Amino acid sequence: MDDDWICGRLGEDEPWLLGAVHPPIFENSIFTFETAGDLAEALKDEDENYIYWRGTNPTVDLAQRKLAALERAERAKCFASGMGAISATISSLVSAGDHVLVLGAVYGPTTQFLRYLEKYGVTHTHISDLAAGDSAINASTRLLYFESPSYMRYELFDIAQVTAWAREHGLVTVMDNTWSTPIFQKPITLGVDLVLHSLSKYIGGHSDLVGGVVCGSAELVRPLARTEYMLYGAAMSPHDAGKVIKGLRTLPVRMAAHQERGLAVARFLESHPAVRTVNHPGLESHPGHALAKRQMSGFSSLLSLELDTDSHPQVTKFLDELRHFRIGVSWGGFESLANAPTLTTEESVRKTMGVPVGLVRLSVGLESAQTLVEDLGRALEAI
Ligand code: PLP
Repeated sequence: MDDDWICGRLGEDEPWLLGAVHPPIFENSIFTFETAGDLAEALKDEDENYIYWRGTNPTVDLAQRKLAALERAERAKCFASGMGAISATISSLVSAGDHVLVLGAVYGPTTQFLRYLEKYGVTHTHISDLAAGDSAINASTRLLYFESPSYMRYELFDIAQVTAWAREHGLVTVMDNTWSTPIFQKPITLGVDLVLHSLSKYIGGHSDLVGGVVCGSAELVRPLARTEYMLYGAAMSPHDAGKVIKGLRTLPVRMAAHQERGLAVARFLESHPAVRTVNHPGLESHPGHALAKRQMSGFSSLLSLELDTDSHPQVTKFLDELRHFRIGVSWGGFESLANAPTLTTEESVRKTMGVPVGLVRLSVGLESAQTLVEDLGRALEAI
């Protein structure tokens, strides 16, 4: 099974599709049964049987089959948002008194969620590498959570090494693979237990969808589908599952185009005197580039650059000078976006995270690289 086939055809030759080239969206909230006994039987497993869409839905199931296959996982469960998937997954793995290790920089609200769990007696420690993990781990540590490339700076971790270390210490590993998409990185093949995605980024691809997914073994995914999915209620809607399936159809070709444009932009920025650093693991100058070549098969187009300035107004001016890049949160869509953590992150948090004032994040879309480079060049000249 290759990824193109999974995206385009997997699960789509079944009788219920009636040969439809795009699967029907099952809009019904409930399914009915011939007899009371049939309903009682179905209720024994709400993750396997169609009863009510807060649990299962055939269109959502089709998206899940494709996502699981792309991640080389046994099973996947889709959620109403990436955060829905993250919070349900972490909750399913910890109990009061447990401890979580967080390796490297992760998406801000993931850390906020871990802080929130403190009121239930779950603690966490941020570590920058496995050597720090050796000191931070304790008898209550259950879980190691990370992203690679990491959040905002796109630092790389050796996934096989991380998972071997975690296994040695009896920890479950959870990794957010949103940056690479399953097209460019398959963490389960490197030993990760559960892989998360925000589907709102490249997988959706058109900035018209918010969704999330967790992929892994049936042993880990089924309990959280039966419990946290049902109880927190962050269920994916069948309409959104239809958009996920549409996004997947073009994901491999979009990722190839994002890769090409992202690298062209990164190389241009790296050569510009008004830029101090460019963080993109596809650049030969990136400290994780050799590792990236080993564990990834390509690069997406989310990158950050550090402007050669420590002035907030200069950063704002740079963003305002952009004509083609739009200013906005999120990333991974067809449109190029720019954002600066100084605008969105509290000053004390920014300092703690060691994020420089001049850091700007770019999500390189599908416009021509020349248009984007000219736009950035003009804005850099203006500051
Ligand atoms: N993971 C990463 C790396 C993200 O950047 C985001 C959102 O920006 C999320 C998860 C959360 O996804 P969502 O916005 O779909 O809840």
